Amino acid sequence: MNGITIALSKGRIFDETLPLLAAAGFVPAETPEKSRKLIIDTNVSGVRIIIVRATDVPTYVQYGAADLGVAGKDVLLESGGAGLYQPLDLDIAKCRMMVAVREGFDYDNAVKQGARLKIATKYVKTAREHFAAKGVHADIIKLYGSMELAPLVGLADAIVDLVSSGATLKANKLVAVEQVLDISSRLVVNQAALKLKRERLDPVLAAFRNAVENKA
Ligand code: ATP
Ligand code: MG
Repeated sequence: MNGITIALSKGRIFDETLPLLAAAGFVPAETPEKSRKLIIDTNVSGVRIIIVRATDVPTYVQYGAADLGVAGKDVLLESGGAGLYQPLDLDIAKCRMMVAVREGFDYDNAVKQGARLKIATKYVKTAREHFAAKGVHADIIKLYGSMELAPLVGLADAIVDLVSSGATLKANKLVAVEQVLDISSRLVVNQAALKLKRERLDPVLAAFRNAVENKA
């Protein structure tokens, strides 16, 4: 197999990876939203894109079902990134992982008193490490979406979630009180593919690297 398979999630990662793909000479034959196809050919024979859930990108690349992929730092921290080579921060899909609470909730005081905090989040591992580093007892409640709801209905004192404009927090009367991490998406490469398909992959990595540097 001399082809290359690239794992992307649809939406912002697909859209923001397009210019980098173009710089590497790859143009997808269709857009995932329109075609609903999960395997998308490109203008280059043997180079194809598979459309997977954002959180599944590391899995496809780890097992070698995709040679490379693009995944958020949030996703990579939760997955642990075993078996993945992460050569490049692509500086796309940028946002911040934040702690947010209900308007009027005295977060500083709650943290200072060393009270137990109930934290609802999709990012269990990252949240646990964040509060452990602060010496705060955090009971972590795993959610899969709509985290903003949790403090409003008494499920949690605070949430750990991704924030870009802050509009969703504001619409739900929440405020961000602490930054956990700066988030951007990274290129991930299967370690075996990097060796076995080196001649095919090296120029792609170089083109991505160039495109990122020229943008900065
Ligand atoms: P879904 O929305 O289908 O549940 P998801 O949240 O995992 O899936 P996206 O919302 O497309 O998928 O997010 C993909 C990646 O984009 C995230 O892992 C994160 O790195 C980044 N991201 C998420 N939200 C934002 C945001 N508001 N602004 C910028 N980047 C974001
Ligand atoms: Mg989302």
